Amino acid sequence: MTTVLEQGNISIHTENIFPIIKKWLYSDHEIFLRELISNAVDATKKLNMVSRSGELASEIGELDITITIDKEKKTLSISDRGIGMTAEEVKKYITQVAFSSAEEFVEKYKATGDEQIIGHFGLGFYSSFMVASTVEIETLSYKADSQAVHWTCDGSTAYSLAESERSDRGTKIILNLQEEELEYLEPYRIRTLVKTYCDFMPFPIKLEVIGGEEPQAAEQINKQKAIWKESPSNLTDEDYLEFYRYLYPYQDEPLLWVHLNTDYPFVVNGILYFPKLKPDLDITKSSAKLFCNQVFVSDNCEEVIPQFLSPLRGVIDSTDIPLNVSRSFLQADRTVKQIGNYIAKKVGDRLKDLYRDDRAAYLRSWQDLGTFVKFGSMNDDKFKKQVEEIVVFRTTWQESDSASKVEVETAEGDVWQSGAVSNTIDGQTYTTLADYLDRNKETNPNRVFYCNDAVAQATYVNLYKNRGIEVLFLDSFIDSPFAAVLEQSYTEVKFARVDADLDESLIEKDNPEVIDPTTNQTFSDRVKGLFVSALNKPKITIRTESLKTDDPASAPPAMVLLPEEQRRMQEMMAMMQQQQMQFPEEHVLLLNTNHPLVKNLSTISDDNSPLATLICNHIYDLALMAQKGFDADGMKSFVDRSNEVLTKLTNRAG
Ligand code: ADP
Repeated sequence: MTTVLEQGNISIHTENIFPIIKKWLYSDHEIFLRELISNAVDATKKLNMVSRSGELASEIGELDITITIDKEKKTLSISDRGIGMTAEEVKKYITQVAFSSAEEFVEKYKATGDEQIIGHFGLGFYSSFMVASTVEIETLSYKADSQAVHWTCDGSTAYSLAESERSDRGTKIILNLQEEELEYLEPYRIRTLVKTYCDFMPFPIKLEVIGGEEPQAAEQINKQKAIWKESPSNLTDEDYLEFYRYLYPYQDEPLLWVHLNTDYPFVVNGILYFPKLKPDLDITKSSAKLFCNQVFVSDNCEEVIPQFLSPLRGVIDSTDIPLNVSRSFLQADRTVKQIGNYIAKKVGDRLKDLYRDDRAAYLRSWQDLGTFVKFGSMNDDKFKKQVEEIVVFRTTWQESDSASKVEVETAEGDVWQSGAVSNTIDGQTYTTLADYLDRNKETNPNRVFYCNDAVAQATYVNLYKNRGIEVLFLDSFIDSPFAAVLEQSYTEVKFARVDADLDESLIEKDNPEVIDPTTNQTFSDRVKGLFVSALNKPKITIRTESLKTDDPASAPPAMVLLPEEQRRMQEMMAMMQQQQMQFPEEHVLLLNTNHPLVKNLSTISDDNSPLATLICNHIYDLALMAQKGFDADGMKSFVDRSNEVLTKLTNRAG
């Protein structure tokens, strides 16, 4: 057994700790102003609480906070008309470092209503020594018959406390600035600091300049109205928009916003806006501002807002986010995680409401909203389940095709229109995956045909469309990984890009070809032979099919197909190597034997003629164009060959 020699308390000598507090408490000197104004705000809020409790004997008067720059005396003062302090309180709260009165006070006045007191570390006041050589306090308590006091301290551990002449309630903190900190005598500097940290504090903050060549009368320099603290029912759309413009001037209007307002199990207030997304968006950076009790804390909420929502802008204000811990600790914090989940849930709810209540607005913003929704679904299972039913895709299907607007009369006699909500906006129809599958369950069950480049794949899309097969447009940068996620949820369903393979229903099966007795070949065999020798690319598989179409010339003569799995593999490899996908040499060239151009090839008598080689290569290039752009060499040879073909044509015409 070990013997305990002594149990004791570690003692700290203020002489040693004081310089440390002054120097390292905050890395940024400018923070002192935020701390002193927060104290002034707290003292003013406390006065409100005292007044509500009926203990205030004097008039409450106008409650504002004034910052005074005295250019001659080189002082910066912060005055409030709050509760003030008695000599005893100064000794207790100011001279005992790290003794905050906040808890004591809140406990006492709990019943008088919910005023959020900012301070609780009991160190903020001392940050004033980062910029001041001597700090003075002039204060008169609200308590009846109080004696005003004057406290002064030069940054050593010695202070003096004396009676003062002050006759009005409140506190004035006077900072005699150090020579190297005189920047705080510049009104512009103070304005900027107040705008950054204290813009939304709940009392007017005024600035006055005295004693110099350009004195300025006191004028309010903070905005003061923290609309996120108000009830959404008291706010109009214009209030939200005006606030957005104030926070982000010269930016496009936001698409929509979410007002966060909860007290339990944690306190979070805030407004988050969905901005129009910019192509150069950095999805890893959060751009919402973090506040604690209306005091600005930081320009991002990276640890609080789920990453997939990081492009959201606006304000989060919470007293439950620990601010005195490191970032990694914050990320692991349980409450912070819960707040993140709460934000995601509220965002999901807001999107669902919009989908239900204003489909047109939802669809109009889908291009941007969809990116959040899809990214979120890929990152957060709960969010994915929440928004599953409101993910939509542009489709080739047209709403007017269907007679889905059925009028149903309810028992109460109301007429309810089933399908009456239009999913078409600006001539473009959108559909959910579930509706797509349902519509196409007879013709192509559990298969989804999609295109990801409406221009390059136009021929393919038309081919499908003309045969009545619906094609979805999965053409945003996030759609390809998102489709893979959808396949995991809908395990029966397979996605196939229109140029991956051709659906059986597009191919003519009823006209078996005859064998030409002289050559002992079918027409298809002959065409295939022509291409094999003209292209001379053994890795290409040449396949012939007769495509069904009403007008043979409208279908393409040839198509390059790349099986879905193979293409996805290539895409994944390219993504891992952070390169553009290289189009693989192994692919299928499908020749449409129903097309007049291909049919005419049989009139070429000599398989190895330069004309045959020219035309076959040209047909192949045209088909390849839908799959990949040309490189410089490819483009040159394509243009040269086009000119050659045209020259040959004009020769013949001549
Ligand atoms: P905190 O603000 O975290 O409590 P501070 O060191 O900033 O710590 O302040 C310590 C205490 O001094 C406060 O809790 C408050 O009781 C008192 N105090 C500071 N500034 C004022 C003020 N302007 N008016 C009245 N009391 C004040």
